Amino acid sequence: MSVDAVKIDKAISGGLAAICAWCEHYWNGQAGCGLQNRCGGPMVGMSFPEYRGAFNKARFCFICGREADHGIEIGDGMIAACDKDIPTVMSLIHSRPGVRVDVKEKQALSLDALLGGEVG
Ligand SMILES: [Zn+2]
Repeated sequence: MSVDAVKIDKAISGGLAAICAWCEHYWNGQAGCGLQNRCGGPMVGMSFPEYRGAFNKARFCFICGREADHGIEIGDGMIAACDKDIPTVMSLIHSRPGVRVDVKEKQALSLDALLGGEVG
């Protein structure tokens, strides 16, 4: 199922994380994706492992969907966040002891990390 850009924008405006709004599982589910127990972000120590969509999660902010300024290595994956949202991300991570995150300037990341990943 392809995902409609207007629906995506509306969902993000309504407070849904951009990565969820772009994810096919979210729109295929009856009430959200139903994968909350095995997928999630840095707040639960994961890099949205079940995410499936056209949006490159290593390149765009998982919260707002804009071009990201920071890469976040977490678990065995990578996600990204913009300057505006990184403080929120870090404060949520810091409230979860035991979760290890490396935040890097985007420029420090390899091109493969930025352009690769599980797109589509
Ligand atoms: Zn953002």
